[in-house]
Amino acid sequence: MKQQPTASHFVNGAYLEDTAGTVIDVIYSWTGEVIAKVHSATPDVIDQAIASAVEGQKKWAAMSGAERGRILVRAANVIRENNHALSVLETYDTGKPLQETLVADATSGADALEYFGGLAGSLTGEYIPLADGDFVYTKREPLGVCAGIGAWNYPTQIACWKAAPALACGNALVFKPSETTPLCALKIAEIMIEAGVPAGVFNVVQGLGDVGAALATDPRIAKVSLTGSVPTGRKVYAAAAAQMKHVTMELGGKSPMLVFDDADVEAAVGGAILGNFYSSGQVCSNGTRVFVQKGIKQKFLQRLKERLADVVTGDPQDESVNFGPMVSARQADIVTGYIAKGREEGATLFAGGEREGLVVAPTVFSDVTDDMTIAREEIFGPVMAVLDFEDEEEAIRRANETEFGLSAAVFTKDLARGHRVVDALEAGTCWINTYNLAPVEAPFGGVKASGIGRENSKEAIGHYSQVKSVYVAAGDVDAPY
Ligand code: NAD
Repeated sequence: MKQQPTASHFVNGAYLEDTAGTVIDVIYSWTGEVIAKVHSATPDVIDQAIASAVEGQKKWAAMSGAERGRILVRAANVIRENNHALSVLETYDTGKPLQETLVADATSGADALEYFGGLAGSLTGEYIPLADGDFVYTKREPLGVCAGIGAWNYPTQIACWKAAPALACGNALVFKPSETTPLCALKIAEIMIEAGVPAGVFNVVQGLGDVGAALATDPRIAKVSLTGSVPTGRKVYAAAAAQMKHVTMELGGKSPMLVFDDADVEAAVGGAILGNFYSSGQVCSNGTRVFVQKGIKQKFLQRLKERLADVVTGDPQDESVNFGPMVSARQADIVTGYIAKGREEGATLFAGGEREGLVVAPTVFSDVTDDMTIAREEIFGPVMAVLDFEDEEEAIRRANETEFGLSAAVFTKDLARGHRVVDALEAGTCWINTYNLAPVEAPFGGVKASGIGRENSKEAIGHYSQVKSVYVAAGDVDAPY
């Protein structure tokens, strides 16, 4: 099998196998070929991973922040040096076009390691003077061993976005990739060791939801960071709550994109394409409800159709291909099910709708109304719902009528309106005149059912550390007796 890893898991600085675990086939979704087989982690593997993380974390936290940071930056450099090979693997794991993975996955993981590596040496506390010479100082301490649980759409990025802030703060991480894309995180684990991260500080265990649940309920785990769907988020959050664990929840969305009459139509169409069809629509923050003001609707749809003529499908390993298959047959079935539902419920199929193998064509429904299933549920595929609106107040109200709150965007040349609308939108990440840019410097995460906590930026530090407050007395202790 052409992408078979050395072993299924990476524990205590080395590959580890336990063939007693259920076999998981890794499938290249373009060909349907089994490219690797891994075993789900047995309780023994999970135990070894957590035990090694407990030991590794002690050594790691005892190092200076600057030293930890140097090692993380070294890991970022190794990732960049190996970008091509890592991107090819990411494409095998997910089916996303190499054209995308070369610029969006390992590179984004490296950005996170570099950024948090840079911050690691400056994570300090405060000095707080009090009366009579007394004072308080605070220390920013690691949480301990964290568990990361990943979705399948960005396996390298998700592993790094969790590992980088966790490790910068002196934690260890046990990462469970999605069972659909188990390969990439193993390479990141190899690179961590090569860069000098001590054994046990970054471990990878494979498995389905039960392995994630075992991590979320183990008393040695201090924090769970999940990237996944809202239903899974509810389960993991509840499990973590029972032991008062910290959580970060990066969940799903049904994000609105508001295009006003005065918008630059090319920018709006470009944003809608990026925010619906990049990674074949398998992006959590996608702007799948595109609200277009009535005056610009025809022009918007016309340019959208013209630009969709430039979609190139084919083997995603071919760099000229810009649109790949869905990650799995299951996901392709889910998406085609939603397309059928859109038709049944009376939306106009404006573009796409076809499926060939696991490639679902970029699909646009127009004349969508708020009550239709395709306007309410996260599809996680290349299906854009175009809705129209009369005025700003109406657009904002309808945009917010959802349980989700991950992202939102507004396209307008009126900057005052841009800021006003963004202020009113219930979303954790907003864009004005662009879509889906998520640089490591910017906080990323959702409100409402889309999540808790933030990844990236300085905000993430607060989610991977805790503050200890130390009161130091200068005088006598004044006790009543
Ligand atoms: P999913 O919820 O099915 O699975 C996510 C992960 O959770 C997998 O590793 C899975 O094995 C694990 N899991 C499942 N049940 C579990 C349980 N009971 N306890 C612990 N772990 C469990 O999601 P998916 O289908 O892999 O990914 C798609 C979803 O992820 C979409 O909803 C998408 O929006 C979301 N997502 C969110 C972000 C973000 O940053 N907000 C990014 C990417 C994907």
